[in-house]
Amino acid sequence: MAEIYSGIKFNYKSFGKTIEKSELLSELKSRCAFFNEKNLAPPYPGGSSGNLSFRIKPGAINFIITASHTALRENMPDSDFTEIISYDENENLIIGKGSEEPSSESIMHYLIYKNKPEINAVFHGHSPELLKFADQLKIPVTKKEPEYGTIEIAREALKFLSTDNFIILKNHGFISLGKTMQAAVNLTINYLNNCKSINND
Ligand SMILES: [Zn+2]
Repeated sequence: MAEIYSGIKFNYKSFGKTIEKSELLSELKSRCAFFNEKNLAPPYPGGSSGNLSFRIKPGAINFIITASHTALRENMPDSDFTEIISYDENENLIIGKGSEEPSSESIMHYLIYKNKPEINAVFHGHSPELLKFADQLKIPVTKKEPEYGTIEIAREALKFLSTDNFIILKNHGFISLGKTMQAAVNLTINYLNNCKSINND
């Protein structure tokens, strides 16, 4: 990662410790374990460098995302997840529910759900292989490298996600979008497998 993690960069107001009940939460937990198993969110002291989310209901903005400083692993408790309800750009304020602060990249997830109504899963991870082979695999790479966790990185990502569901944040990581969580995982795995075949050539 280009930058050392130093916490969230937005204001956060919590409206309670309990997140919306959703049958999809157990699926998100298994996707998190899978990201960890495939080393797509390498750990740093106190957490993992990945954040995964899903939209609770089509047509609504609310989504559930991994909490800040969370280590992706097997059997994650509900308290490792936060529900995001809204984001106010003028006050740089996220409103949500949950016992922990939401992921540092929550603004990015929010802007994606707001601007891409067909998307119901946003998975962000870090993979040296994908960064290395992005050009050969013709994966779009952002031009700028804004700081993690800012509205600027969210806007830069969105620009490149307007026509693609899988992009590289320059010198940082990848974002995979899907209509379903399965679709977002499939996209990631396809690109990873293609990296392996280039490596073996
Ligand atoms: Zn990142």
